[in-house]
Amino acid sequence: MTASAASLEGQVALVTGASRGIGAAIALELAAAGATVVVNYASSPGGAAAVVAQIEAAGGKAWSHQANVADEEQVEAMVKAVLEREGRLDVLVNNAGITRDGLLMRMKTPDWQSVIDLNLTGVFLCTRAVSRSMLKARAGRIINITSVVALFGNPGQANYSAAKAGVIGLTRSSAAEFASRGVTVNAVAPGFIDSDMTKELDKEPILAAIPLGRMGTTAEVAGAVRFLAADPAAAYMTGQVLQVDGGMVMR
Ligand code: NAP
Repeated sequence: MTASAASLEGQVALVTGASRGIGAAIALELAAAGATVVVNYASSPGGAAAVVAQIEAAGGKAWSHQANVADEEQVEAMVKAVLEREGRLDVLVNNAGITRDGLLMRMKTPDWQSVIDLNLTGVFLCTRAVSRSMLKARAGRIINITSVVALFGNPGQANYSAAKAGVIGLTRSSAAEFASRGVTVNAVAPGFIDSDMTKELDKEPILAAIPLGRMGTTAEVAGAVRFLAADPAAAYMTGQVLQVDGGMVMR
């Protein structure tokens, strides 16, 4: 393994929603960089086990933990389990997310609330749960997966874009709070990435809006997360939003 490939050697990373899609790619990428990865999932034990098996087959270390990241008690128990088993927690990737799309006028309150609870409150709960040990260690990387729709809005996604915009505010506020203790907090804003979340979408208008002319891959998002987790590569970055969107949003 090269020095850069092993840049997270000895570290422990918790990736939420890592049983498939972007989270699974992030788990594989961080494990390839040398981290022991905790693969969180909600309802796909088979998917999580397959990610763990893939990491182990490649010579890496991983284990899975079931928890609903919108549930305070389950989040606290998950972080406690990681700290008890590994004795440290260096990287948190808040990736778990859902969509419940619909036009605002007809949006049911539970569809609003469930997206806010998981995509925004879940990030808060996980960040708060890891903050004590990271601040005490005076080191840590927190990487939140937001979305480009937080930057420009999207018809049919009032709940999702509000939650993802909230994640950007949460990223910046927690970055400002944690900076003096050596803990960085950044966000990655993917554009349209090929995963279960986007498989039902009408691709034609989406592709027309992407200068690079294609959807992104989960590995391309994972590469940005690996960069933000790595030392010293991203040590001097905090409170930033890194877009991985094929040029969709240029500001
Ligand atoms: P996905 O394929 O639908 O996977 C979602 C993941 O979240 C699964 O591992 C799922 O676990 C997990 N999850 C769902 N509810 C959970 C809960 N209550 N607690 C813990 N985990 C839970 O989605 P994706 O496309 O990989 O998206 C990953 C992240 O990227 C999300 O935050 C999403 O908003 C964001 N994003 C995606 C795109 C895109 O184009 N795909 C673009 C921008 C941002 P189970 O399998 O166990 O249910």
